[in-house]
Amino acid sequence: MTAQVEFRGLRRVFGRTVALDGLDLTIAAGELVALLGPSGCGKTTALRCVAGFEHPDSGAVLVDGKDITGVPANKRDAGMVFQSYSLFPNLNARDNVAFGLRVRKVPVARRHARAAELLELVGLPAHADRYPHQLSGGQQQRVALARALALEPSVLLLDEPLSALDAKVRVTLREEIRRLQLDLGITTVFVTHDQEEALSIADRVAVLRNGRLEQCGTPAEVYGRPATPFVAEFVGTMNHLPGRLSGDQVTVLGQLLPVDGEPGETPEVDVLIRPEAVLVEPDADGRAEVVTVSFRGASARLRIALGGGEVLSDVPGHEAVRLTPGTRVTVRLVSRPVLVAPRTSTAPTPAAEPSPGASGEVGGDAARAG
Ligand code: ATP
Repeated sequence: MTAQVEFRGLRRVFGRTVALDGLDLTIAAGELVALLGPSGCGKTTALRCVAGFEHPDSGAVLVDGKDITGVPANKRDAGMVFQSYSLFPNLNARDNVAFGLRVRKVPVARRHARAAELLELVGLPAHADRYPHQLSGGQQQRVALARALALEPSVLLLDEPLSALDAKVRVTLREEIRRLQLDLGITTVFVTHDQEEALSIADRVAVLRNGRLEQCGTPAEVYGRPATPFVAEFVGTMNHLPGRLSGDQVTVLGQLLPVDGEPGETPEVDVLIRPEAVLVEPDADGRAEVVTVSFRGASARLRIALGGGEVLSDVPGHEAVRLTPGTRVTVRLVSRPVLVAPRTSTAPTPAAEPSPGASGEVGGDAARAG
């Protein structure tokens, strides 16, 4: 079973705090959508409105086109997993998983069989007799997941389910959640403030800001074509480089690049550039210099000093060998459309203006001047 979920103009106010400010979002049947955004942007409130633990002041939640806003939580067809493991401490894993079945008076043999099936599904077939305190955090979340799935809900709601776990378990479990979700084809809403987690697990990522949807798109879209500077900033790392607009192009580090989206009103802007779009070449005459290198295996992140400011560059790990701290370098930007935002950076604008067609060239005084 699976269902389409729709938030329609959802608004929820707590005193003077507007938690949801007209949230509109449709999640297709079988889709995994991550609700991503900074603390307080309304992610959990939105999720709780689907579960029925929270009620909107206006707007509606629809499941398969049916308005469920007034339906009590225990009558909703959704399973939920919370950040804190929230298992019943006095019940073993089997009885935790089978709890909802017991409430529905499913006979004991059948509910034990179903619990065994679910524990198998989440990789814990041998842990049925263990109590929560005898399970690791990751194992407890697997049991919580099995419990959420026990009644075969058509929607799975996950509220930061991995954030209490250590980094390695977090990655393993998120991959397993995704595998399970794809196998079951269950519509899933996954709340997280961790952009890497959202990008790696979701079919689409919905970026929320102040209780509203800022952008919803595939991971590649929100990362590669962020709709607004806020999304660009929140998803992944961004350099802010001073630039000067001329029409629908901008001069940055001596290169002329096309502007993606609205150029804005003032000519002095910040140009938003991903670290992987900053190309670095060793050059004894270069006026930029490698400051630090953080080696990450397949890639390395360089901090480069140039023109009184700094810029981050991601390079393939093997290239980092010749880009040690102190190396003089030339910096060039990948020639593709860039987003611009109102100027906040304080670094001086590179002095040199580009010569026509300089865009994308390696070296040259302009790029070196950086
Ligand atoms: P976080 O990542 O920190 O959990 P979030 O995006 O999930 O944040 P919500 O928990 O949805 O945010 O909260 C949105 C806003 O509403 C916050 O400012 C929060 O303090 C407020 N809020 C949420 N629930 C209540 C409540 N029951 N009473 C008062 N204020 C609340």
